[in-house]
Amino acid sequence: HVKRHGKDGYEFFTNSMKGSADQHLSYDTGLRRALDEEQLQLYFQPQIDIQSGMISGMEALLRWKHPEAGIISPTEFIPVAEENGIINEIGMWVLDSGCAELSKWIKAGHSNIRLAVNVSSKQLAQTDFEHHVFNIMTKHGIPGSSLELEITENVLIQDMDQVVNQLRKLHANGVRIAVDDFGIGYSSLGYLQSLPLSTLKIDRSFISGIRASSSRNSIVTAIIAMSKELGLDIVAEGVETEIQHQQLKRLGCPNAQGFLFGRPMPKEHVGLFLKKGYT
Ligand code: C2E
Ligand code: MG
Ligand code: MG
Ligand code: MG
Repeated sequence: HVKRHGKDGYEFFTNSMKGSADQHLSYDTGLRRALDEEQLQLYFQPQIDIQSGMISGMEALLRWKHPEAGIISPTEFIPVAEENGIINEIGMWVLDSGCAELSKWIKAGHSNIRLAVNVSSKQLAQTDFEHHVFNIMTKHGIPGSSLELEITENVLIQDMDQVVNQLRKLHANGVRIAVDDFGIGYSSLGYLQSLPLSTLKIDRSFISGIRASSSRNSIVTAIIAMSKELGLDIVAEGVETEIQHQQLKRLGCPNAQGFLFGRPMPKEHVGLFLKKGYT
């Protein structure tokens, strides 16, 4: 296939492969320095209670401010961090920094606000993960109910007993567990009944398909009905338009997150945002 494109096509192919291998290597060594030299930053994106219009939570989203390359997206460097193991340290930094901000918001009077933190399957594979979480919560005086850990369905494909064990201990201390990007994973639905879950986050791909005519909204409608049946909360991800917002409201979806309500923002902007609301 490659050869049919001729010499130029072949060269292009090998050059781009080499480029990504180099980049991979530089992320690999650069991540250690990123942690040590404080190049990592947390941004926060609001989650809205659709029926009341109040802000219900903030999701912490990681950014790497690289001195030469500029801002690097987590989708680029998280996989590298997972491969070389530094994700465990990065993940603890995220939790610690996120909880430090959350405690400021709570002290400023926003006691109902929740912090959502993405957790990698590699972190859950650590046997002492829940101890680290509890230590950080204690350090910042955070009640379990103010913290929501977001896992993806792929954590359930690996060491299931270990994962279930961790989640049970976290849940027993009030920590909420959300399934991120719900609906696009490969796992069966059985886990929805056996795991101590609090929330499903409907993947953005289902939300972007929402139209004013309700015939195209059956999957979202079905997920909302199923969540209610299972006693789970819902966050619709990637809400960008007022039509999507209004349809979700009409369908009885409890929470939404997306550019319509607010882009991920640096920590310095959160205080004012919480005070003013999203409008
Ligand atoms: P995610 O957890 O599903 O986060 C939502 C992503 O969708 C974020 O991308 C966010 O900026 C983006 N987004 C939010 N609203 C909209 C919208 O209305 N339209 C569109 N097109 N996009 C929207 P981001 O910040 O680039 O993060 C990408 C992924 O990287 C996250 O997906 C999460 O899986 C991972 N990630 C981010 N921070 C962390 C972290 O601290 N730890 C771990 N393990 N993963 C992280
Ligand atoms: Mg997430
Ligand atoms: Mg998501
Ligand atoms: Mg996503």
